[in-house]
Amino acid sequence: MGSRADFHTHSTFSDGVLTPTELIELAYRRGVRVMALTDHDTTDGLPEAFAAAARHPDFTLIPGIEMSTDVPGSEVHILGHFIDWHEEGFQRRLVHLRDSRLGRARKMVEKLAALGKPVAWERVESFSGEGAIGRPHIARALVEAGHVATVNEAFDLYLSRNGPAYVERERLTPVEVVEMLTAVGGLPTLAHPRELNDLKNLLAQMKAAGMVGMEVYYQDYLPDQVEHLRALAERFGLIPMGGSDYHGLGGPQQREPGDIPLPDEPVERLLALARERGALQGV
Ligand code: AMP
Ligand code: ZN
Ligand code: FE
Ligand code: FE
Repeated sequence: MGSRADFHTHSTFSDGVLTPTELIELAYRRGVRVMALTDHDTTDGLPEAFAAAARHPDFTLIPGIEMSTDVPGSEVHILGHFIDWHEEGFQRRLVHLRDSRLGRARKMVEKLAALGKPVAWERVESFSGEGAIGRPHIARALVEAGHVATVNEAFDLYLSRNGPAYVERERLTPVEVVEMLTAVGGLPTLAHPRELNDLKNLLAQMKAAGMVGMEVYYQDYLPDQVEHLRALAERFGLIPMGGSDYHGLGGPQQREPGDIPLPDEPVERLLALARERGALQGV
């Protein structure tokens, strides 16, 4: 089942395997007409993405980003849509976050060597290319070196939050990031909330800070989970959003772009809000 919109995708500018152009062509072929590129901690894929989107007059690209934040014991990811990504202070903070990702990735590679599972730093770098480096790039190097069979196994055995090779990123709170995104005109949405503890408390805090949506239609979320999250979103005045979180890495959870049961109504609500705030020109 396909939706005409997908608010959560990754390209080679972070840990996805398709270039922004390839991603947009794939999404377009699948019937997606409204798509956000939401690479981790970077907007550097957006110039290419806008050039690719311009080839399809009936396709709307939303400038986006995904940022990772921390709460005690777990990670909270936040999407920002319609960000004014040219803003200099915002870009300086992103550069700083990407630099800290690099130091952290080197530490994880050192830990793997100490665990007897060495991977060459050059291979990790070549998987990340020019993009924001992250654990999936290290996972791919582990697969290539023959230490594990799949990217998922690399996470299960070494790279998950409780794994022996895990190193924390620079810590940001959800409220800090909601404010950072709002300051550049972004509409913040809580990503993949299913496994989060104390969700109601988190939603209350994030809503008060300016959050507008929560991902409800996502990958393998089952109909009763979707319904539960949808009701929660309504209760907190949040738009029930959806995205595939497509990375192109395969695996059991992967969904193709647009392969989520996101109805048109929340899409229209988000676009209307963006128009109201002057973030959406010509649509
Ligand atoms: P990082 O930003 O470096 O902490 O990496 C986070 C990314 O790793 C997420 O956006 C997912 O794409 C991926 N990831 C996290 N956990 C897993 C897992 N268990 N299996 C596969 N990929 C995962
Ligand atoms: Zn990712
Ligand atoms: Fe995420
Ligand atoms: Fe994501």
